[in-house]
Amino acid sequence: MSVLLQLLTAAILLYRGSGGGTARAALAVAAALGFALDGFGFASGLCGGALLALAWLVTTPGARRQQWLTAPLMQRIRGLLPTLSDTEAQALKSGTVGWEGELFSGRPDWDRLLGPAAVRLSAEEQAFIDGPVAKLCRMLNDWQLTYEDQDLPAPVWQFIREHGFFGLVIPREYGGKGFSHTAHSEIVMQLSTRSVSAAVTVMVPNSLGPGELLHHYGTDAQKQHYLPRLAGGEEIPCFALTSPVAGSDAGAIPDRGVVCHGQWQGEEVLGLKVTWNKRYITLAPVATLIGLAIKVYDPDHLIGTQDIVGVTCVLVPRDLPGVNAGPRHLPMNTVFMNGPTWGTDVFIPMAQVIGGQAMLGQGWTMLLECLSIGRSISLPGLATGAGKLACLTTGAYAYTREQFGRSISQFEGVQEALEQLAGYTYQMNAARLFTVAMLDRGEHPAVPSALLKYRNTDLMRRAINHAMDVVAGRGVITGPRNFLARAYQAVPIAITVEGANILTRSLMVFGQGAIRCHPYMTRVLEALDEPDPQAALQRFDAVFYALVANTLRNQLRAFALAYLGGVLASPPRGDGLEPHYRQLSRFSAAFAFLTDVTLLAVGGGLKARQRLSGRMADCLVHLYYASAVIRHWHEQGYPQEQSALVEWSLRSSMAGADAALRAAVDNFPVALLRRPLRWLVFPPGHTRCNGPDDRLGAQVAAAIVEDGSLRDHITAGCFAPDDPEDAVGRVLNAYRLARQTEASRARVNEALRRQDEDRVDAVALLLGHQRAELVAWAIDNGIVSEDEREPLLEALTALYDVIRVDAFDPEGIRELAKGSRGRRRVVERPAREELEQVRNVG
Ligand SMILES: Cc1cc2nc3c(=O)[nH]c(=O)nc-3n(C[C@H](O)[C@H](O)[C@H](O)COP(=O)(O)OP(=O)(O)OC[C@H]3O[C@@H](n4cnc5c(N)ncnc54)[C@H](O)[C@@H]3O)c2cc1C
Repeated sequence: MSVLLQLLTAAILLYRGSGGGTARAALAVAAALGFALDGFGFASGLCGGALLALAWLVTTPGARRQQWLTAPLMQRIRGLLPTLSDTEAQALKSGTVGWEGELFSGRPDWDRLLGPAAVRLSAEEQAFIDGPVAKLCRMLNDWQLTYEDQDLPAPVWQFIREHGFFGLVIPREYGGKGFSHTAHSEIVMQLSTRSVSAAVTVMVPNSLGPGELLHHYGTDAQKQHYLPRLAGGEEIPCFALTSPVAGSDAGAIPDRGVVCHGQWQGEEVLGLKVTWNKRYITLAPVATLIGLAIKVYDPDHLIGTQDIVGVTCVLVPRDLPGVNAGPRHLPMNTVFMNGPTWGTDVFIPMAQVIGGQAMLGQGWTMLLECLSIGRSISLPGLATGAGKLACLTTGAYAYTREQFGRSISQFEGVQEALEQLAGYTYQMNAARLFTVAMLDRGEHPAVPSALLKYRNTDLMRRAINHAMDVVAGRGVITGPRNFLARAYQAVPIAITVEGANILTRSLMVFGQGAIRCHPYMTRVLEALDEPDPQAALQRFDAVFYALVANTLRNQLRAFALAYLGGVLASPPRGDGLEPHYRQLSRFSAAFAFLTDVTLLAVGGGLKARQRLSGRMADCLVHLYYASAVIRHWHEQGYPQEQSALVEWSLRSSMAGADAALRAAVDNFPVALLRRPLRWLVFPPGHTRCNGPDDRLGAQVAAAIVEDGSLRDHITAGCFAPDDPEDAVGRVLNAYRLARQTEASRARVNEALRRQDEDRVDAVALLLGHQRAELVAWAIDNGIVSEDEREPLLEALTALYDVIRVDAFDPEGIRELAKGSRGRRRVVERPAREELEQVRNVG
């Protein structure tokens, strides 16, 4: 009993994270009390003494602790923890840590989630979205530009340039729009709902590339010269990192720049002789300014004593002799400009190095810093747009499409697919807004940008697949009437670019996060890396015991919160989400505890344990998305109509976090630890997290089928044309007319069903092209009134039109094929040239 009192006191202090003199005093009182109550027995004496010694050790630094305990521990830990390459160390220094740091702490502070003010679009930004963005959307016909023009039409290019679409993020002082990140994301998202090709064309100059790099790192002269020209579309930029041999492993680029003297505008100046061979480069075929990532070498020591200077970003004007670009790749038949570029020994002066000579060798840091911005905006926005478009069209189509005498949206099987589509889109949008708001508050969230890019593009793939299943044959047959196939076709592009998803999930998110976002790990690694042994010992001593206390606390919290269903957590009150906050606290503690165990048990082997790393990334993703959904609902003032979507999202996320952690524990690489970990993270009798139930699922499915403000909210930001001849406009028009005639169509359907039962052959009347006879029959039989004739006829006509697909005569199909047959094929850089260079080097 006395020992229990002592242990309980220690556990409560640890759980609450209490430290310092008060905690030591409380523990001393409990130890003395227990000892006295036990009649000064051995067990309570030993236990109280051990607890006090441990508390003293953890909270009292000193030379003796350093010498006796810290030094040997440091020696042991050095071999256990991961070591960092230079590139990884740079990656870890780049960006900032925000809400994800709270999730890694195991004890999220809800005020940091709910406290910051909401980011709103300015009147000017909103006017740009309602004006030029909507107009650009109206100018785009994706079928025509893909299959007929294989490019954006000239007036579209002109409009994009003239209205400043290439300078959305360039500051006003340089002629750009200077828009917020939230506005940038909205614009890209809306464009992508109309045409992926147009969205990518606008996206790239505003994302990682010359504009952004110049804005952050350019010299004054470079900014003054290039930024106004980029903002006004006089210069079209591209940025080339990827080469045939270096895709995901971007650090392995063989492209080089050798420091030398050369001729530039009639003078001999110091510069670089650049050789590169890049591929997959967006806008390269039309770019006038080619940004390149290269490795710089200084064999003649013209600028210093080192042979290898490092990764550097340079700007190469397209019109220099020896610069090659122009051939086009066709990425999944989308027609945004994309292609290879190459050149051999092209001389550029130091003034063409982004940031000038001082930034030689700084390219990697520059790219990583800027990557967290663009990666949070472009593809997450595009993915959300695809989800919104699928909700807008598929929800409407499911309502209008009738089989077996009723709307297919009434079938539970179809509802299961619609539920995922609506739920995923809601989650994508919440996570997108949550992350871009961080950017607008000045953060550079490296880990969230990676997980958002991975998860949103993955959810987009799932959402579009569900939409395709619902729309079925109507979605499969391509042609100008198809409203879904183009988005479906473009999915793998988003999965691949800006960090291919497999790599991002299984290596980057947890690999970086476990160290970068951990409350103590970066400081521990920095201490171990310290060259001065005495300073290293002091720094290690100052942080290591806090790390141990943190791990123990998270272990205790994970166990207690799992066992008691999170009742010990103290969530914010008043929004009805207390159970979800409790589960989030529980999983955050378990995740943080498992992170520490992973780092200590697997250490440097983590890079090879990608299944574990991927599952931990999944857990973090689910915690992050749940937080984003709570924040999204909070920002809007908790509108009741969204409560089913919020509940669905949170239950899905918690079930996902539960499954990911369970899989991580069940397959933990150190087999001996599996059983204890299972017991600590999922103790016997713990509360399991189940996903959404069928009732909730049906409500979420209805959110995109039923006409109303909820459907409007989910699809907000999606371009919705009103032209009934447009692929999307046709579905929306049919949906509107079908809704208006819902009551009369229901009566006709019911009457037809009754007729069928009486064995009168009414099947012929159901055929869409006999709708006039059907309406006449309905009026004759008093099923609908004469006043309903016209609206009913119009609706039935639209309903028949919306299910029709395109059919081409054989000549028409041949015309479409001509595009690819008639063109010369170029395999990136011509192989002959490649061979020549190898010979020269040899
Ligand atoms: C349409 C399009 C536009 C692009 N635009 C540009 C651009 O403008 N500028 C530019 O520089 N680049 C651009 N890229 C290149 C893009 O960034 C690369 O395609 C991407 O980095 C992946 O390289 P890769 O395709 O060579 O795949 P690979 O590197 O060959 O990877 C193949 C697979 O292996 C996985 N993988 C690789 N290494 C690991 C690992 N260590 N652990 C786990 N999995 C791993 C990857 O995730 C991927 O699934 C573009 C690509 C495309 C397709």
